[in-house]
Amino acid sequence: MADMTDELGIRRGHALRAAVERGLAGEAEPVVGLLDVAGIAASATALRDAFATPGVSITHTFAVKAASLVPVLGLLNACGLGAEVASPGELALARAAGIPAERIVLDSPAKTVAELREALALGIAVNADNPQELARIDALREAAPSTAPVGLRINPQVGGGSIGAMSTATASSKFGVALRDEGALDWVLEAYARRPWLNRLHTHTGSQGVPLALMVEGVRAAYELAERINAAAGRQQVDALDIGGGLPVNFGSDEAMPSFADYADLLRSEIPGLFDGRYGIVTEFGRSLLAKSGTVLARVEYAKSAGGRPIAVTHAGAQVATRTVFVPEAWPIRVLALDAKGVEKGGEPVVQDVAGPCCFAGDLVAKGRSLPLLEPGDHVALLDTGAYYFSNHFAYNSLPRPAVYGYRVHPDGAVDFSPVRAAQTQEELLAESGAGFPPLGPA
Ligand SMILES: *Cc1c(COP(=O)(O)O)cnc(C)c1O
Repeated sequence: MADMTDELGIRRGHALRAAVERGLAGEAEPVVGLLDVAGIAASATALRDAFATPGVSITHTFAVKAASLVPVLGLLNACGLGAEVASPGELALARAAGIPAERIVLDSPAKTVAELREALALGIAVNADNPQELARIDALREAAPSTAPVGLRINPQVGGGSIGAMSTATASSKFGVALRDEGALDWVLEAYARRPWLNRLHTHTGSQGVPLALMVEGVRAAYELAERINAAAGRQQVDALDIGGGLPVNFGSDEAMPSFADYADLLRSEIPGLFDGRYGIVTEFGRSLLAKSGTVLARVEYAKSAGGRPIAVTHAGAQVATRTVFVPEAWPIRVLALDAKGVEKGGEPVVQDVAGPCCFAGDLVAKGRSLPLLEPGDHVALLDTGAYYFSNHFAYNSLPRPAVYGYRVHPDGAVDFSPVRAAQTQEELLAESGAGFPPLGPA
């Protein structure tokens, strides 16, 4: 494991230097996203190896919201993964990446009739969020028979983690059927009894900040419910459990910790029946698959001082690191200080702020951080930003979405870059801002 972790850092070092040398980040494009192709592939392999069990059919899907980039979905597809989608746009991306319908799962708390109809027609698995949605599926299936697997999302209400906004299994979470509410369990049992085709059960106990033990409790609740449904049906009506994603990411070092193996091993020991071959397993990991493979590289435009505190003004702020800037205590990230050539700087650490380009005072990606003193023309690298940083652009100040490149590093340190997304152009920004429409006239 130590080896893999070291290699990640070594590859990243080569990529950062090469990206600066070749002008991928520079005067013209002051901020860029970089993705480690080997790191992503290794992460997908680690996931598959962790869950692989003889006799158990396992479908790993990637939560598209974590990196809504078609070439990345294509890479994951080649690694045998599918996609968890939650909007027509995300479904279109998964299909554009060539992901087959049988490896796509549609989750979303607000699916329209049209979205449901399309998924059922394509044979894409659907997890219904609530009774009203299930009734829509009833009607659609009556109008046009479908073989798409259908599940129901339950909220096991096992409690939240350390980040409220990321906790999906609290008593009053907006997701799924709240299983511990009065009458809910009976309603669910009845819903399955009346629908012999309802063959999956889904839970996603939340995301970053939720401890493994709590995630396991959520899966256990789904497993025990499936056992009850199947006992009542006298057959294996629920034939697959979708256990969601949510494995937390360690933002403090290059180590993937906890690992997919840690989680799978805990599930195996706590819920052995899940792996005994009666159930297929579907997973929906996002952050843990991609975070460690991504880096934001940005130029330092100015270095100033205010109230005795040095401040580096860079081109990476709230537009790419939105959650980090707005909720810094929940989303701290590591920042590397790089010189004008993209090489990590030495020198005495100095307590400083690393600011972004946005026009509001809180636009800081690191506050009071000890780093070698940053100077104009230097660069910063924001680490572990492969998930949720390139897909959650915030259009503040009309700052463009930065370009993203994948990189591969040869044994001699040479780096190949492949485009993943072009930077948003001025023309696109203008069009998105209504430049094609006439001025509003007076009332
Ligand atoms: C966001 C989400 C995921 C992925 O969560 P991660 O924490 O990124 O692994 C999986 N399933 C559902 C339903 C989600 O909403």
